[in-house]
Amino acid sequence: MQLTKFTDIGLRVLMHLAAGDPAASYTARGLAEELGVPYAHVAKVVSRLSEIGVVHARRGRSGGLRITDLGRNAGVGWVTRALEGDDPVVDCDGPTPCTLRRGCRLRGVLAAAREAFYASLDTLTVADLSGADGLPDGVLPIPLIPRAEQARDGAATGRRRTPSQPQQNRSR
Ligand code: SF4
Repeated sequence: MQLTKFTDIGLRVLMHLAAGDPAASYTARGLAEELGVPYAHVAKVVSRLSEIGVVHARRGRSGGLRITDLGRNAGVGWVTRALEGDDPVVDCDGPTPCTLRRGCRLRGVLAAAREAFYASLDTLTVADLSGADGLPDGVLPIPLIPRAEQARDGAATGRRRTPSQPQQNRSR
């Protein structure tokens, strides 16, 4: 099971806000910059996070984005489900319905596995992921990797990969 990019960015935004300086004012553009993801994606994700009440967007000069108490205390599974939506793991009844669907037992097992996945994520809250509890003021628990270092790492990873080394997730 692979999370969508949308959910991945949503969780990154929430973790970053939860671990960040409570006095700082965050914007979608600033978050995009800091997290190294496109602004358009962050803007869409922030809109959804705001819709489910885990992020609050305050307008005006002293405005900005902040994580709400609900967001801090939300289970990671609950947030992930809210971002992923309720689509089944496999689309058995789509435009080309599966011919095995009448007697298929796999369908139920996959649905149960998905519930177990969310339940397992729900053993942690967003605040747990941020690791901010108990740290002195001003100490950020999830430091951002500087952009230059990030670019160097990306380039090194690209250089290390040769045609004989399969990329992760490549189908066989
Ligand atoms: S085999 Fe079962 S789970 Fe897979 S698409 Fe067909 S009905 Fe759905």
